[in-house]
Amino acid sequence: MTTQTSDNTMTAIAPKRVRMVTLGCAKNEVDSDRMRTLIESSPAFVVVDDEDEPADVAIVNTCSFLVAAVQEGIDLTLEMTGAKLPDGEDVPVVMSGCIPSRYGEKLVEEMPEVAAFLPVDQEDSVVDVLARVCGLTSVDTYAPRTPEVLRTVRSATAYVMISDGCDRFCSFCAIPYIRGRYHSRPADVILDEVRGLVQGGVREVVLIGQDTGIWGSDLPEGRTLAWLIREVAAELRPVNGWLRVLYLQPEGMTDDLVAAIRDTPEVVPYIDLPLQHSCAEVLARMNRTGDDRSFTELIDRLRADIPGMVVRTTAMAGFPGETDEEFENLCAFLRRSDFDYTSVFAYSQEDGTAAAELPDQVDEDEKLERAQELQDIADTYGFASAATRVGKTYRVLVDATEQDDDGNVEAIGRAYFQAPDSDGVVHLGQADVTMGEFYEVRIDDAVCYELFGTIVAPDAAEPGPSGKRL
Ligand code: SF4
Repeated sequence: MTTQTSDNTMTAIAPKRVRMVTLGCAKNEVDSDRMRTLIESSPAFVVVDDEDEPADVAIVNTCSFLVAAVQEGIDLTLEMTGAKLPDGEDVPVVMSGCIPSRYGEKLVEEMPEVAAFLPVDQEDSVVDVLARVCGLTSVDTYAPRTPEVLRTVRSATAYVMISDGCDRFCSFCAIPYIRGRYHSRPADVILDEVRGLVQGGVREVVLIGQDTGIWGSDLPEGRTLAWLIREVAAELRPVNGWLRVLYLQPEGMTDDLVAAIRDTPEVVPYIDLPLQHSCAEVLARMNRTGDDRSFTELIDRLRADIPGMVVRTTAMAGFPGETDEEFENLCAFLRRSDFDYTSVFAYSQEDGTAAAELPDQVDEDEKLERAQELQDIADTYGFASAATRVGKTYRVLVDATEQDDDGNVEAIGRAYFQAPDSDGVVHLGQADVTMGEFYEVRIDDAVCYELFGTIVAPDAAEPGPSGKRL
C-alpha cells in the first residue's frame, strides 16, 4: 500500500491488521470467508489470525438465531471495543452479520462503542467500511469491486452456500426476518465457486442454505437440487472427492433427489433432516408439516434405498403448549428412529416471531429438563452408532491437526458419516499424513462421538460395492 505525498513521491504504509471473529453457523463461516477474500484482495489490509498479534481494526461476524447467541455477540463485541491502539485510541470494532440484520438502526443508539454495523446484505462493502473506520480516504483506488470473488481455500473441506433466506416462516424462527426471503444462487456462480475450490485443493464440498431442498425453484431455468448435485459431483470426480448436502427439509425429499444421492458416486450417504418435532399438533403450531408416521416412513425409505445411510436430525423441547403427551411422542419417536446424530434445543422465545406470542409458554426449568431428557436419548443412540464403527475400515479425509495434552501434534480426519463441525472426528495420533488427502483408516476405539483410528493404507483405488468411496 502506498500514498502520495506533497512532493509527489510514493510512501509505503503498513497495511492495517484486521482481526476477524466468527460466531454462529456454517453460513456465517462462508460469509466471513467471503469478506476475508475481499479484505485480502486489498493492499490496505491484512487479516491476522494469531490472537497474540495486535490488530488495528476488528470485525465480529455475529449470529442472532437465538437470544443466547445475540447476547454472546454483543458481549464479545463490547469486550473487543476495549482493546487499544499504540496511540491510546480504541481499536475500532465492526459488528457484521445477523445481529445488525435483525436489529438494524436501533443498534447505532444502543451500542455507541461500535464503529460500524454491517448487515448481511451489505457485507460486500466490507473494505469500504474498514477504510472508513480506519480513517483511510483513498481506498477507492484499490478496493476490490468484483461482486462474486472466488473463495480462499484454507482446508480440504469447504461449505458452499447454494441459497440464502427462507420462505417457510416456521413460527419459532427469526431467520426469514434476518436473512430475508428465499433466494437461490445461480448455478453458474455455484459451479464456478466449486471449480475454484477443487483446483485449490478442496476434496469435500458441503452444500448449505436454510432450505437446500428447494434450490432452483425461484430461478427461471427450472432446475432442481438433484440436477445441481449431479453437476457439483462432476466437478469433484477427477479428485475422487466427497459431496455432502445439509439442511434438507422432509418435504423436499423427492424420489429424484433420493436417486441423485444414491446413484451419484461422490455424494456421501448422509442426510441432515431438521425435523424439530414428531407430533402433528406441535408441528402445526410450528407452522411445519408432517407427523411421526410420515417421518418414520421417510427415514425407513432412505435407509432401505441408500446403503450406509446416516441420518442426523434436530429436536426441540418445550415449544409453547407442548403437553406431556406431545413430549412423550417426541421421546418415543427419537428412540424408535435410532438417529446417528441429534442436535437438541430448548425452545427459545424470540422477539418478532409468531411463536413468541403463543399462549402456554413452557416454564424455563421444564424446557431445560425436557431438553436434557432428549439429549440423553440422543446420546444413547448416537454413542451406540459411533461404537458400531469400531473394528471397521473407512475412508478418512485428513484436514486438521490438534495438539494433545502433552503438546504432541495429532492428525485429525473425518469419515463420511461425520459432517464438519458437528459429528465428532477421527483422531489419528501422530500419523505421518499429508493434509487434504484421503486414507484408509481402521477404527480402533470410540469414546462418545469421538473415534480413534490407525491408517492402514493410502486412499483406496476403487469404489466400494455401493459405487461410492467410503
Ligand atoms: S425452515 Fe424454518 S427453521 Fe429453517 S430457516 Fe426456514 S423458517 Fe427457520
